[in-house]
Amino acid sequence: MSNKRDYYEVLEVSKDATENDIKKAFRKKAMEYHPDRNPDNPKAADKFKEATEAYDILSNPEKRSSYDRFGFAGVQSDFSSVNMGDYSTFSDLFSSLFRDDFFGDDIFSQFFGGRGRSRRSSGPQKGSDLLMDYKIDFEEAIYGTKKVVEVPIKKECVECKGSGAQEGSSPKSCPNCQGSGVETVQRQMGFTRYISQQACSKCRGKGSIIEKPCKTCRGSGRSDENEKIKLEIPSGVDSGFRLRIRNKGEEGRSGGTRGDLYVRLIVDSHEFYKRQGDNLIVELEIPFAIAVLGGEIKVPTPYGAEKVKIPKKTKEGQILRLQRKGIQRKTQYGMSYGDFLILVHYSIPGKLNDEEKELLEKLKEISKMPSKQEKLFKKLIDTSKANKVDE
Ligand SMILES: [Zn+2]
Ligand SMILES: [Zn+2]
Repeated sequence: MSNKRDYYEVLEVSKDATENDIKKAFRKKAMEYHPDRNPDNPKAADKFKEATEAYDILSNPEKRSSYDRFGFAGVQSDFSSVNMGDYSTFSDLFSSLFRDDFFGDDIFSQFFGGRGRSRRSSGPQKGSDLLMDYKIDFEEAIYGTKKVVEVPIKKECVECKGSGAQEGSSPKSCPNCQGSGVETVQRQMGFTRYISQQACSKCRGKGSIIEKPCKTCRGSGRSDENEKIKLEIPSGVDSGFRLRIRNKGEEGRSGGTRGDLYVRLIVDSHEFYKRQGDNLIVELEIPFAIAVLGGEIKVPTPYGAEKVKIPKKTKEGQILRLQRKGIQRKTQYGMSYGDFLILVHYSIPGKLNDEEKELLEKLKEISKMPSKQEKLFKKLIDTSKANKVDE
């Protein structure tokens, strides 16, 4: 007790700090030094304790004025035997701090690793979010579509009205946690005792136990019901795209709001188009003569036919790119356009008419083997002859 730091110094506030300043300052310290966040740092716990003590005094106008006039002597009796064992009041103090408008509920539950929720198990609880996979056609993904899906959603059991207990009976308060749903766990580290809270192991945080479970829902208080839900699938989506439909997840408990439904899209493949990001790839067979001499062909894109110029001497395996003729997609910055890519293959004619036959025969007569290959062949034939002579 002898080398205690001044409470204002501990919270790093001035002597004329307002109540709000003090609250804010303590939140900051508490967030930083809470033992749950610093399991391996005993110094943090000391700092936390120090800040808590300072806050307890300075947040209370009576204690604060007494401290201002008489120093530690004025408040000694209150905190001389302070320890973390007094967790119930401490915890309440702490949760009230984090449950107001400034941080909202989320920070509080995040802070306690979700335990904040189980503390309030008797109050409204938000329903769980649901995730479902949904398969759509390639075209539906490109143009966008509207769908109605049936989603099995857990709703309040009609038989027991959500209590989970058989008619004529009701859930009993859990004897292990006296209905709070929370269990206190103690941990000793050096001279300091840490006390933390977790969901009650007997009732799993519910605070109540059902002795005669409802036969319809087997005590869960819920039943599966299919609900028809409308989906609006925007144009240009790809596999993995997630739609969020607010308030279409599971129903909340005790008047809590519904969770959200997430629909993850799986886009079916297409027999002609392949997708790579926002680009569309098409493998196209082009008549040999057009590929060599150049020409023009018509290609179907999902947004209409496009005339494509085939340059002279287009090679087998070459890729021709039509810019901004690929997938069209709405983004927050406006429309985005992918490219349309054509992978060229030479087509070998099947059945020939007389004219084609005649022309090809002529071409055959005057065709030569490629000169590079010709040279190599000559060399190979010559060396094989030479070797035969040697034998
Ligand atoms: Zn039931
Ligand atoms: Zn319990």
